Formats: sequence, C-alpha cells, structure tokens
Amino acid sequence: MKNPIMIITKGYISKAQAEELSKLNMNIAILYTFSGISKIMENRDETLQIKSMINISKCSNLKLINYYRPVIEGINTDEKTIRHVAKIATKYCNASIISGIRLNSYLSKVLDSLDIDIPKKYDPDHKVLLPETYEKIKKIFKETKKEYPTFKKTSCGVSYAFNMADYNGHSARIYYCNPNCSSYKTCIGESKIGFCTTDCPNYNRCKEESKRKISKSYFRGLLKNIGAENAHFEILEHYIKLDGQYWQEEVSYLRHITKKNIKADSLKKREDERLISM
Ligand code: SF4
Repeated sequence: MKNPIMIITKGYISKAQAEELSKLNMNIAILYTFSGISKIMENRDETLQIKSMINISKCSNLKLINYYRPVIEGINTDEKTIRHVAKIATKYCNASIISGIRLNSYLSKVLDSLDIDIPKKYDPDHKVLLPETYEKIKKIFKETKKEYPTFKKTSCGVSYAFNMADYNGHSARIYYCNPNCSSYKTCIGESKIGFCTTDCPNYNRCKEESKRKISKSYFRGLLKNIGAENAHFEILEHYIKLDGQYWQEEVSYLRHITKKNIKADSLKKREDERLISM
C-alpha cells in the first residue's frame, strides 16, 4: 500500500510495538492525541503518553503527529496548558494538528454537569474551534519552536509529513463553504482569500498540485468505479461540482484519487454519523 496509513491513539505504545510498526515500512503516521486533558478528562497517564511519543519518535519509518484535540474552551485553552503541550509536542513530533470538539447532546450534558461553560457556537455536526483560540495555540507553538508546523486539518498535516500536496484539496473550500457554518472562520479565515497561507510549509506543493488539470473522461472513469457513470458534474477552476447526493466515502474516494476538492450537492448521512450527532 502506497497511501498513508494513519493510526490514531492516546494509548501506550511500547518500544517493541513502535519498532514492530516501523519494520512494516508502510507510510505509517501515528496521530497521537495529546492535548493537555489526559488526566482531567481522558483517564490517561501523561507520563506513559510522553514515553509512547518518545518510543515512536525514535523509529525512522514512523511519522509522529500530535493531535491537539479536542480543544475545549476553558479546559485546555489556557496559556499554561498550551505551553506544556507545545513543549512536549515540538520535541518529539513532526507536526501538530489542532482541532475542536463536535459537541452532541450527550457530551453537552457531561460538560454541563461538570459546570463547564460551553460556547454557544459549538454544534453537533462540526468540530468547532474558535479562530482566536487556534491563533493563540499556533502562536505559542511557534514561540516554543519557530519552524514547527501546525495545521487545522488532518489531511494537511499528514500530507505535509509525507511530502505531498493535501490529498483532500482543502484550499478550494473557500469557493463553496457556507459563511454561516460555525467553523467557517477557522477553516477559511477572516481574509476570505482561502484558508491556506504562505506560511504553511506545504503551500508551494499544494499550489503546484492545484494547477494540475484533469479531463472529463478521466473523471467519468472514476465515477464508473462508484456506479455513478451517468452523473452530472462540472470541472471548475478550483473544484469539481457534482450534482446529486453521495456517501461521504464516495466523495472521499474521488477526492483522494484526483487530489481535487469535490463538492456534491449533499451527502447521505450514515447511521454512525446520525448517532454521533444526537
Ligand atoms: S497549503 Fe493549504 S491545503 Fe496545503 S497543506 Fe497548507 S493549509 Fe493544507
């Protein structure tokens, strides 16, 4: 398998386990969740987590990416916590991905019962991260280690780690995302010029990739693979507009193969997604 393989964990990874994974030599990225809430909310021993990151970081065939998530206002957004995470992540990881929390009614009740004030902007369908909080975390990470990269999207961080352009074509989102979406400002930024900035270490690679053209017949062939050979679509300058309703997996397949952003009219909601949103 040539594509990146991602393992998401906050658990303990021993030296032997890390070495075993490394021996596979299969473009493995470990997305290690470490966001300053190990003890308070995750029932995890931070010392073992740090040890895990040390073990992984010593393996040459593994990429180690820090998942600073979920970011929850008032829980892990204070300067002391951010500096603590930054100190450890910048020492052992290749990059950090910072993202918010998707707050369904169950989690809302849990936070409520703990007397934790939840920002009104949180919603059950998006991982909401306030733009000012992202900027604050990014700034502290940069102060800790100037060249250390931080990302908002998983695919951006993983693509960077494997020296490739973002396989989800996120830079095109500005052209179709809804400005009323609670995450709009975080994803797109205030400047309305797309959420990619030249300070992203992957900027030139993604820009080059975005210039690559694909033909209608090639895309039609990919649609055939998902049984949608006769679908209506339009190849626009920044993304591909696909008429109709699709599963997320179908859209992801098209995105990952073409490296273009695909915008379907709507997505079918899977049962697990419906349950998460409840
Ligand atoms: S340039 Fe944009 S799409 Fe590419 S990795 Fe950076 S933020 Fe993501």
